[in-house]
Amino acid sequence: MNILLVEDEARVADFIRRGLSAEGWGVTHASDGETALALLSEAPFDAIILDLMLPGISGQDVCRKLRARSSTIPVLMLSALDSTDERIAGLKLGADDYLPKPFDFDELVARLEALHRRTQRFAAAENADLLDCGGVTFDKRSLTVQVDDVAIDLSGKEREILLLLMSNRGRTFSRERILNAVWGMTADPLTNVVDVYIGRLRRKLRQHGGRIVTLRNVGYRFD
Ligand code: CA
Repeated sequence: MNILLVEDEARVADFIRRGLSAEGWGVTHASDGETALALLSEAPFDAIILDLMLPGISGQDVCRKLRARSSTIPVLMLSALDSTDERIAGLKLGADDYLPKPFDFDELVARLEALHRRTQRFAAAENADLLDCGGVTFDKRSLTVQVDDVAIDLSGKEREILLLLMSNRGRTFSRERILNAVWGMTADPLTNVVDVYIGRLRRKLRQHGGRIVTLRNVGYRFD
């Protein structure tokens, strides 16, 4: 884990840096808010330990500016001020956790680890919205499809068929099943519309078109 430590008290900063380095984490130290913001726009960090009482811009302002930049980096606020109001104010500004000084070092480590786990779970959930079938990706949130990293234009029905097949990779769907899933009750069971749409989809998927496999007299599947 790569941590940005924003703390103006040299003694406290040194204590945290030595401890976290011993845990095997990378620690970059900034002793004021301006330096912290500059470092944050240069390099990626996994989390920030942010003291509130800083010379120049305050820790609260650093947090506010970060969130205004839409940064989602986990922020653990540190402060000698420990009232419920302070904690609530910090969390409302976009901090993820708040630890009053003086703190127990083990608690600091445990809280940072918890923040890191939460971020990873969030990243995993985001990935669940992306179907990646090697060369063909379907983003279920934005409903965009890319073929070899180039976005392709699909009609609503084409997109629904592709989503059905890609979500169930390797499973064969009969024409009737696709017709019912995509066109619903209004579909004419004798129509060849499914085959027509599959043909269009294959062309749009270019070199990956052959991955929509036809099983004669059965249906289609995505391999
Ligand atoms: Ca301070």
